[in-house]
Amino acid sequence: MSPDRRQFLGWGVAAAAGAALAPGFMLVELAQARSPQEAASKLQRWGLLIDITKCADCEACVTACHEENGISGQMSGHGRPETDAQWIRKVSLRDKRTGYAQTLPLMCQHCEHPPCVDVCPTGASFKRDDGIVLVDKHTCIGCRYCVMACPYGARSFIHEAVSGQKADVPRGKGTVESCTLCVHRVDRGEIPACVEACNRGGGKAMAFGDLNDASTEIHRRLKREPSSQIRADLALNTGVRYQGL
Ligand code: SF4
Ligand code: SF4
Repeated sequence: MSPDRRQFLGWGVAAAAGAALAPGFMLVELAQARSPQEAASKLQRWGLLIDITKCADCEACVTACHEENGISGQMSGHGRPETDAQWIRKVSLRDKRTGYAQTLPLMCQHCEHPPCVDVCPTGASFKRDDGIVLVDKHTCIGCRYCVMACPYGARSFIHEAVSGQKADVPRGKGTVESCTLCVHRVDRGEIPACVEACNRGGGKAMAFGDLNDASTEIHRRLKREPSSQIRADLALNTGVRYQGL
C-alpha cells in the first residue's frame, strides 16, 4: 500500500464505546435463507465485522473470493500491466507514532450512502434494499465514474475478456465490478466465501450477519464492543466495520 493511499484511507475512525469482548461469541452466522425470487428486504442490512487483531498473516479470504467468483487474480495474457479484478485485498497499516503495524482485508464497504451509486449515469451501480451494493452488468457502460468516486479503491475495471466465469457470478469485459458480499450465496442462506475461509483456515477474524437483527451476534457485538468505520469522517455509514483498528 502506498504512503499516499495509506494516508488517504487514514486512521480516521469513529470508535463506539462498549464492553470488553465476551468469550464464546460465534464468528459465523448463517444468513437467513430465502428464495432467490424473494425481494431483498429493507428490514435487513447485511454487513461484516472484522477483528483485525485476529487477522492472520494469510490470504485465505482473498483466495476464497477468487475461487468463488471466478477471478483469476493473474496478469493479463498480453504482457500489459493489467491484473484481473480485486474484490478483496489485504492492506498493511502502520501507525507512524508507535510503529504498530497490522494487516486487514479491504473490500467494498457496502456504504449506506454510496458515492458510486450517486455518480453512476446509467443506474448500473445500485444498492439493494438489504444494503448490498452491486453493479448491473447489462447497464454498466464502463465510464468508471464509480471507480473515481469510491474512497476505498474497491472497484475494478475489466480490461480483458474473462474466462472461467461461474454461473452465479456474471462478469464482462468493459464493465466495472466489486465485492458483492457473495450475494448469490447470501440469497441461498449461506455466508460469504471470505468469511467461511477465514473461519476455516485463517484467523477467525471475520463475522457476517444482519446488522439490524438484535438477535444476531454481529448486532450484539457492534452494540457492546468498540468498532470503527474506515474513513468514518465521510459519513457513508459503511456496512463493513472493523475492530482493533
Ligand atoms: Fe460504492 Fe466504494 Fe462504498 Fe462499495 S465502498 S458502496 S464501491 S463507494
Ligand atoms: Fe455506472 Fe458502470 Fe459507469 Fe460505474 S462504470 S459509473 S457502474 S456505468
